[in-house]
Parts: sequence; structure tokens; C-alpha cells
Amino acid sequence: MKKYIVGNWKMNQTLANIDDFFSSLKIKDSKCEAWIAPQTLHVAELLKRSEGAPFNLEVGVQNICEHESGAFTGETSAVTAKDLGAGFTLVGHSERRSLYNEDDDLLNKKLHSALKSGLTVIFCIGEQLIERQNGMTNAVLKNQLIEGLEGINANSFNDGQLLIAYEPVWAIGTGEVATPEQAQEAHAHIRAVLAVELRLENKTIPLLYGGSVKPSNAAGLLSQKDIDGALVGGASLKGEDFSKLCEIASL
Ligand code: PEP
Repeated sequence: MKKYIVGNWKMNQTLANIDDFFSSLKIKDSKCEAWIAPQTLHVAELLKRSEGAPFNLEVGVQNICEHESGAFTGETSAVTAKDLGAGFTLVGHSERRSLYNEDDDLLNKKLHSALKSGLTVIFCIGEQLIERQNGMTNAVLKNQLIEGLEGINANSFNDGQLLIAYEPVWAIGTGEVATPEQAQEAHAHIRAVLAVELRLENKTIPLLYGGSVKPSNAAGLLSQKDIDGALVGGASLKGEDFSKLCEIASL
């Protein structure tokens, strides 16, 4: 399986920044899955610019509404994101969980809506620092998977249409990265929960690590057996760093 480098641009990047990003992409070819989730309003722009990029770039969104259509002012549906040309969406990023109070039940509805529309979903889970300190990491991850993936079975999605991102909350945007061993341990646990509890053992579900990934620490993380790629915030904003990450993931 190709490794994934997924950039989450959050609410960053002006059009001028996007120009800089594309003009500083360094590599001619990439053997990884290179994906970017810009702000939703920039999806069309990114799609246009990615046509001229030196390697294939998949464009997605960071969030969708749980409803397909209707009176939900300010929201964007999965169907509309798909219509716009987005290939994937994040669901359950820790900033959505904590800043917008998105709970497992809502995230489960978003997951179903996104899969139904044909979008690929990166479903994000991860423990808080206090939970890790109290030895609760595995229990938290298991619970987030069981609640978040409620009603999902092997027929709900195609191979590769659902990815899980393990993002320890204490490592997101903090500069503090999980060690490759900590990340591998969590990923092995996630794999086991998906297989044993959710009966998805025959599905291909890539597992991404996220939390302060940058070119200097990516190789150690990506070489772990159960780490299929990285979800990257800060280090995905600059074309040089994004290119370096793609190079490392292509080895
Ligand atoms: C993220 O936002 O998903 C993330 C991992 O951010 P950062 O790489 O900046 O920690």
C-alpha cells in the first residue's frame, strides 16, 4: 500500500500563500498518496492548481454537516463537497470535538452521511494528556471507535474509503510528538479493535498518525508496521516541507 501524507490546512492559507505553496513544491513525482484539506472555500482553487502540480494531489474538506440538505445555515453537506470535486473529508478532528462540542453520536452521523455521498473519510480519534497519564489510552480509543463507527459494517464502505487517524490530543500543534513506539502501540490496538470488535478484519483501512509530524520525525513514524501515513497540520503549509514529507513517504 502507498503511504499517505494528508495536509490539514485548518483555517490557514490566503490565495497568495497557496501560490507560494505550489511554486515551492520540490519533487517531480511522488509515490505516496498526497492529499490536502484546505478551507472549503478554497477547494475549487486547489483543484484548479493541482492540475499543474508536479504530482497527483487529492483535495478534500475538513468537515461536513451530518445532514444531506435543508435549513442548516452556514453548513456544507457531504453531497455538496463531493459535487465540488472533494475526494475526502476529515470527521472528528480533535478541534471539532473540543471547540465545537462534536460528540460521538454526531460524528457517527457525519461518517454515515459522508460514506453515503461517496466521499472517503478520515475518522480522527485520540486521547487527551490526562487520559494517557491515567493509563486510559486504549480504552478511550476503543470507545471512540465503537461509538463513532456504530452501524458501520464491511458493506458500508469500499476498501480504502475509510481511514482512521490516530491523533493524540497532546501532540496536535504542540511540537510534542508521540514516539514511534507509542504511536505503533496505539495503531496496533486500533487495528485489533477494528478487526475483533467491529468485525472489519477483511477490510483495508489505512491508519494515519497525526500530531506534530514534520520532516525531521516522519521517517521514524512512517517506518512502523501499523503506520500507513501521516495527518499533518503545521508542516503541511509550506510546499518545501510538504514535498519532503512526500519524499520520505515514497521511500
Ligand atoms: C492536525 O491538525 O491534524 C495536526 C496533526 O496538526 P499538527 O501537525 O500541527 O500537530
